Amino acid sequence: MPAIAAPVPQPSAEPRTEPLVFAAVCDWAGVVRGKAFPEADLESRLAKGMGYTHSNIMMSCFGPILTTPFGTGGDLIVRPDPAAHVDVGFGAGPAERFYLGDIQNIDGSPWECCPRDFLRRAIAALARHGLHLTAAFEQEFVYTGIDARPGDTYALAAYRRQRGFGEALMAALRQANLRPDSFMPEYGPRQFEVTIGPEPALRAADAAVILREIARGLAFRLGHRAIFAPMLEPDGTGNGTHIHMSLADAAGPATHDPAAPYGIAARVAPFFAGILAHLPALAAFTAPSVGSYYRLTPNRWAPVHANLGLQDRGAALRVAPVFATARESAARQFNVEYRVADATASPYLALGALIFAGVAGLDASLALPAPGARAALLPRTLAEALDALEADKVAKTWWSETAMSAYIAFKRAEIAHLARESPAEICNRYADIY
Ligand code: GLU
Ligand code: MG
Repeated sequence: MPAIAAPVPQPSAEPRTEPLVFAAVCDWAGVVRGKAFPEADLESRLAKGMGYTHSNIMMSCFGPILTTPFGTGGDLIVRPDPAAHVDVGFGAGPAERFYLGDIQNIDGSPWECCPRDFLRRAIAALARHGLHLTAAFEQEFVYTGIDARPGDTYALAAYRRQRGFGEALMAALRQANLRPDSFMPEYGPRQFEVTIGPEPALRAADAAVILREIARGLAFRLGHRAIFAPMLEPDGTGNGTHIHMSLADAAGPATHDPAAPYGIAARVAPFFAGILAHLPALAAFTAPSVGSYYRLTPNRWAPVHANLGLQDRGAALRVAPVFATARESAARQFNVEYRVADATASPYLALGALIFAGVAGLDASLALPAPGARAALLPRTLAEALDALEADKVAKTWWSETAMSAYIAFKRAEIAHLARESPAEICNRYADIY
């Protein structure tokens, strides 16, 4: 008797679907994590949020919680922020639909470890000096949908092969209510850079997160990846996240004075002096991975000193050029670029720490170094950056004791987790995630 044939699966019609919305946090690891809910419940979810627990913030970039002071107890809320809403369609495929949000205690007060709250508090501290900050993130990444070819550096040939990605990215960013500024082939193999327009600080950090996710989401739909990890191989080309900053007061732009040293107005010079003074500690937030420090090495157009340079792309703080002649537009365009950052950083922690350091400079009326003065070396490893953070009494006031010690333990656990891996393996581990 012939064997009974197994039923042959019948191709069925497309299953019915119901739209979901993802409520997310860009956490300490700089990873966007959260939960989805049916779009039909949007109104009630905006009001009541989604559950979260204290130890969630301790999820390493690799996934597992490597250490936590919080244990298994406790409940928190992620409250989606309608101002950080993304709904980007990609033709026939599923849309990218998510909200970024705040982590709150169940009484609705900010949780002390919430990255967005860290930035909000920094913004409030700066406002007490009568100033507010505008920022633009310029992000470099490797797109895998193109072969590396010799001579592609800045080349029209590289751009031409990837123009489809670039144009789809511009459209997606605009749908996400960001303001695309430029897209270019960069120095490294398959490396590109995308810049968006300046925004007030909180919006700028949201936009940096959204841009990374849109680029990754678009690449995913094309069967490829957009990799923002700081180095794909230990001796390769770095992917930097450069943070352009300018300050304004009630009267308008306040950063520029063409007659002042570096063109930086005396009123805001202490802000940038504060960043330089606290730079070793700042690196623990802005270059917060083991792999970050393969990038911060000589001859890579990335900084190695805590220095300020006039139009110098090797400096930690670079006074960017102004392409304007009329005095008013020069005042508006003038900005200072911070280059000790990469995409393993949470944009909220990075920008928040920069602002806190700037405020510390304003509080202490710090002066900028004289042009040509010798500057300290940057930390050479994440461990050194964490030591600097622990030793910086001012930096330790930027956060509650609980948050600061948990963050330092979180990052030390990441170092220990990679202790037995070679630099090449470490680059791969981060490239898998970012
Ligand atoms: N790729 C360099 C970095 O890692 C920057 C190159 C540039 O100046 O755009 O920061
Ligand atoms: Mg660049």
